[in-house]
Amino acid sequence: MTIEDESDESVRRSRLQSTPETTVEPVSSPAVEETTGGSETASAEIVSDPSDAFQALGNETRMGILETMLERADETETGVTFSELFEASAADTSAGFAYHLEQLVGPYLEKDGDEHYELTYAGRKIARAIATGAYTRRVDHPPVSLAESCPFCSEQSLTAQSTDNIVAVACENCGRSLLRLGFPPSGLESHGEGFPEAFDRHHRHRLGLMAEGVCPECSGEISSELVRTASSTDDALPPGFEEHVQAAFNCDLCGLDVRCPVSLAFLDRPVVVSLYHDHGRNIRDRPIWNVGHEWTETILSEEPLAVRVVVELEGDVLALYVDEGLEVVDVQRSETNAAASEGTTDAAA
Ligand SMILES: [Zn+2]
Ligand SMILES: [Zn+2]
Repeated sequence: MTIEDESDESVRRSRLQSTPETTVEPVSSPAVEETTGGSETASAEIVSDPSDAFQALGNETRMGILETMLERADETETGVTFSELFEASAADTSAGFAYHLEQLVGPYLEKDGDEHYELTYAGRKIARAIATGAYTRRVDHPPVSLAESCPFCSEQSLTAQSTDNIVAVACENCGRSLLRLGFPPSGLESHGEGFPEAFDRHHRHRLGLMAEGVCPECSGEISSELVRTASSTDDALPPGFEEHVQAAFNCDLCGLDVRCPVSLAFLDRPVVVSLYHDHGRNIRDRPIWNVGHEWTETILSEEPLAVRVVVELEGDVLALYVDEGLEVVDVQRSETNAAASEGTTDAAA
């Protein structure tokens, strides 16, 4: 199984592509506010231009204010006072400090009548991004050996490494690339040598969100469909691994565009999880770059596209019938051993 950035042309058994993870989120424009007056739909208000919003951040004193606000935000219910913020700063005069503070009020800070300040939604987002180095730290991590064997050559020679916050999983034996996706600098730094597992969890849950129609970047609506793989993808695969369709997830709002093996869209389905559980296994023990040879995909129809995804454990077969919109339209579970007659099904949607 592979997952990677769409700009990478290296080999994959089946791949998950994504737009680079370095997209800068618009901070406060358009800002969306929930209405409090019982209106049935959310109302959106643009509170500032993106250029103005970002310009307000271009100063060391203001960065320091956001940092202090993030540290103190959870300690107080009434907000942080002007004097607390001033004392925590390196500013010489309160007049100069007041000027910088005022530049943040609106997009990043709210001020009440008693001169107490609180972070807005945008303020909290940007303060966290700054604190975790999302826009400022580049993390390279040397290759770490993985316990899983390569799905192509079966050698236990997979490694994960990070270059400029992009993690690549590849095989040192056959040279194939399985996956290439972004990972926040804080994830790489705080998990140390264990970063591949955290990386797997991070992207597994992002896939789960996408499969449920929610964008992991912006929470917007995700559209899902079966798509054909590019011929360059198929050509790069070894015999027996050619694939013809993938799951594609797209968000119109933020532009997130991810393609992955169809199987990965269904890893956290209750019927799948329970199949593994019934055999004393945990589906999460296998990483998304190699979910195991028990998974197979068969194209049932070209027009419209339809796929059967089968997972088989010890003769216990679970088949998911997937339509072009990536909806599971039927589920069948049956035994393949001699004792079970063909066609015995135990549907459990
Ligand atoms: Zn290999
Ligand atoms: Zn989005």
